[in-house]
Amino acid sequence: MSDDVVIITGGSRGIGRATALLAAAHGFKVVVGYASNEAAANEVVSKIEATNGKAIAVKCDVGSEADILALFKAADAFGPLGALVNNAGIVGPSIRVDQMTAERIANMMTVNVTGSILCAREAVKRMSTKHGGKGGVIVNLSSVAAKLGAPNTYVDYAASKGAIDSFTIGLGHEVAAEGIRVAGIRPGLIDTDIHASGGEPDRAHRLSVNVPMKRVGTADEVANAIVWLLSDEASYVTSTILDVSGGR
Ligand code: NAP
Repeated sequence: MSDDVVIITGGSRGIGRATALLAAAHGFKVVVGYASNEAAANEVVSKIEATNGKAIAVKCDVGSEADILALFKAADAFGPLGALVNNAGIVGPSIRVDQMTAERIANMMTVNVTGSILCAREAVKRMSTKHGGKGGVIVNLSSVAAKLGAPNTYVDYAASKGAIDSFTIGLGHEVAAEGIRVAGIRPGLIDTDIHASGGEPDRAHRLSVNVPMKRVGTADEVANAIVWLLSDEASYVTSTILDVSGGR
C-alpha cells in the first residue's frame, strides 16, 4: 500500500485506465492524464472515488511540453510524487515506410518518445534523492513491436518503442543510486481502442492466432504487471523490460 501520488499519462482509456483503477486499489493517489477524452478521464476518477480512493483528471497532451509542466504542477498540489507511468502512446494507420510523411514520423516521435522523456525528466527532478526527493518508480510502456519491427504496419511506431527500451535501460542506470527504479513493459496484442485508432479495430484479434497463447491480452493483465513494478515487491528490479505478450 502507498499513499503516494502516481501520474499515469493516457490514464483515461485502455491500459492506462486499468492501471489507474488498480493503482488506486493499492492506495496510490492517481493523477489521470488524458489528451482529449475528458468524459472518459472523469469516469475513471469517479470510479476511484466511489471506492474511497483519491484521483484527479488533468488534460495533458504529452506532445506539448507546456501541458507536461502543467500536469506535474497539478500533481504537486495533490501530494508527493511516488511514481510515473509513461503510458500515453499512439500508432498511425498501417502503411509502408515509403508512404510515410515527415509530419507523421515527427508526431509519432514527439508523442511516444519526447513525451515520455520529458515526463521522466519532471519525475526525476521531484523523486531523485540528489534533488532532495525520496525516490520513486518510473514505468515506461514499450511494445513487442520494438523487437518485431512492425513491418508493413508501422515501423515508425516500432522504432519509437525501441527508443523507449534504450531510454529505460539508460535512465535506470542513471538514477539507480538516487532511489529511483525505472522499468519497461512490452505489451503484445492487447484488446484496447488503440487498434481502431490505427484504422483496424479487429487487428489484435486477427493476429492472435500468431500468439503462442492463442489469444489477445487484456488491459488488466498489463496493469497487473505495471502495478507490481510500482510496488515494493519489485524493489530490486530496475533497468529492465518485461514482456506481457502471451509469448509473442
Ligand atoms: P488506447 O486504448 O488507444 O488509449 C490511449 C490513451 O492515451 C488514452 O487515454 C488517450 O487519451 C491517451 N493519449 C493518446 N494520445 C495522447 C497524447 N498525445 N498525449 C497524452 N495522452 C494521449 O491505448 P492502449 O492500447 O491502452 O496503449 C497504452 C500504451 O500501451 C501505449 O503506449 C501503447 O503504445 C502501448 N501498447 C499497447 C498495445 C496494445 O495492443 N493495446 C501493445 C503494445 C503497446 P484520450 O482518452 O484523451 O484520447
